[in-house]
Amino acid sequence: MIATSSLEISAKAYRQNIRYIRSEIGPEPTISAVVKGNAYGHGISQMVEIAEKAGIRHFSTFSSDEAWEVWKESKKGSEIMILGMLHPEEMEELIRKGISFYVFDFERLQKAIGISSETGIQAKVHIEVETGFHRTGFDWNQREKLAELLLENKDNIAIEGLCTHYAGAESVSNFVRVKNQIARYHEFKDFFNAKGVSFRIYHTACSAATLIFPETIMDMVRIGIAGYGFWPTKETFFAKLNSLPKGNKNPLRRLITWKSTVMSLKSVKTGEFVGYGNSYMALENIRLAIVPVGYGHGYSRLLSNQGMVLISGQYCQVVGTVTMNAIAVNIGKIKNLKVGDEVVLIGKQGGKEITVASFSESTQQVNYEMLTRLPKDIPRIIIP
Ligand SMILES: *Cc1c(COP(=O)(O)O)cnc(C)c1O
Repeated sequence: MIATSSLEISAKAYRQNIRYIRSEIGPEPTISAVVKGNAYGHGISQMVEIAEKAGIRHFSTFSSDEAWEVWKESKKGSEIMILGMLHPEEMEELIRKGISFYVFDFERLQKAIGISSETGIQAKVHIEVETGFHRTGFDWNQREKLAELLLENKDNIAIEGLCTHYAGAESVSNFVRVKNQIARYHEFKDFFNAKGVSFRIYHTACSAATLIFPETIMDMVRIGIAGYGFWPTKETFFAKLNSLPKGNKNPLRRLITWKSTVMSLKSVKTGEFVGYGNSYMALENIRLAIVPVGYGHGYSRLLSNQGMVLISGQYCQVVGTVTMNAIAVNIGKIKNLKVGDEVVLIGKQGGKEITVASFSESTQQVNYEMLTRLPKDIPRIIIP
């Protein structure tokens, strides 16, 4: 079976990104590769393979189903940590496999303590505290009861980490909000330590925090988007670039390239409309290539009459509406094009490039969203 498009994932680019992140954080902190959202669209199994070969031994997932995927793929006995969802009925199996998870409420904590005491196997828990994101995490006024429970059960459960997640570390304009969150985290830490509750590791930083708030680095950083070669925002890029030696280029490299092929060629006469509706009328005689990728494959409808692809090293514009399975692009003056020739949706061809950023801006999606919308069934091919 041959799919209508494929994604190439560059292991070399990943190694470069990890080298750069390592140079920022120093030799000690652990890098946890965040592989939620099907590894930001790159494919969990491909990314586990690539990351382990690059020396990564810690993975973060959002949910238990993703954790199982990492667990099946891992060849190096890497640590796995669940940041979000797990069903209570799966907890015992996760504990037996040594998969750690965030605990942000008393229900989950009690459940973990219960299973650990029954089975004699310590659950590995990361206590998440609320510092301002207001999604998950123990509130400040729950600290006394939490400390008591942790102390009472410190032989039952393994108290792996104390963690939080920053709201807005991707923007320097949120400086005050982030500083307040860091301060609150330290209040929690000091409080627990004073009570005699100690954690094996302390971790708070995502990519943006790691890169622009270095005091958040601590024992481990949870790196998602930067590992895949993207800056969390333009602002983090400029904030960071100014601190790099003069003349330095962007140290992060995109891993992903998205390719398809020409399915069919067609000529359209002046005055004819292309596609559904009448959003595009040919103002001259034009030639089109039909490319078998549409919104059903993650190519947003918002790219109708806007998107660009590369064919024969030239930019070609999408004309008419993006349909479920196909787009039409204007091939201009390109000669000798054949069915089956390569079309680049994201990536380089000849000297030209289509970046995920240009793609996401014209669809008003951020990089994160565009990437995670790439369907799982598009084949991902690792390029060494
Ligand atoms: C997604 C996530 C991260 C990684 O964020 P990036 O901005 O992609 O680096 C880190 N920590 C938590 C809790 C997350 O949910």
